[in-house]
Amino acid sequence: MRDCIFCKIINGEIPAKKVFEDDRVVVIEDISPAAPVHLLIIPRKHFVNALDMLPTDCELVGHVFQVAAAIAREKGFAEKGFRVVNNNNAGAGQSVFHIHFHLLAGRDFIWPPG
Ligand code: 5GP
Repeated sequence: MRDCIFCKIINGEIPAKKVFEDDRVVVIEDISPAAPVHLLIIPRKHFVNALDMLPTDCELVGHVFQVAAAIAREKGFAEKGFRVVNNNNAGAGQSVFHIHFHLLAGRDFIWPPG
């Protein structure tokens, strides 16, 4: 998608600190971290947000959580706890309109979130 910052990161047009990638997702460090660990799990396919996804995309969402759990185990914060967050539309805090999942860890989190 032209003019999409995450498509440009996925395509290598804009630099980012990649921590994992496979055929379906790219995982990068957030440029403005909200926690000691703040990664973005970004599907390679451009969806605006959850409202853009179809039943045929369910497997991709499951894969996102498999990747989140694998990173949590590998980086050693699985047992302590981590959060996976997906914001949909501006009122919920979405600022980049290419679906992504925040993977946050390394501090205590409050509930409900702000
Ligand atoms: P949202 O607000 O859409 O849920 O999350 C977007 C996230 O993308 C924010 O946490 C923001 O810091 C991050 N972000 C925005 N632009 C860039 C960028 O160019 N590079 C990286 N690594 N993260 C970005």
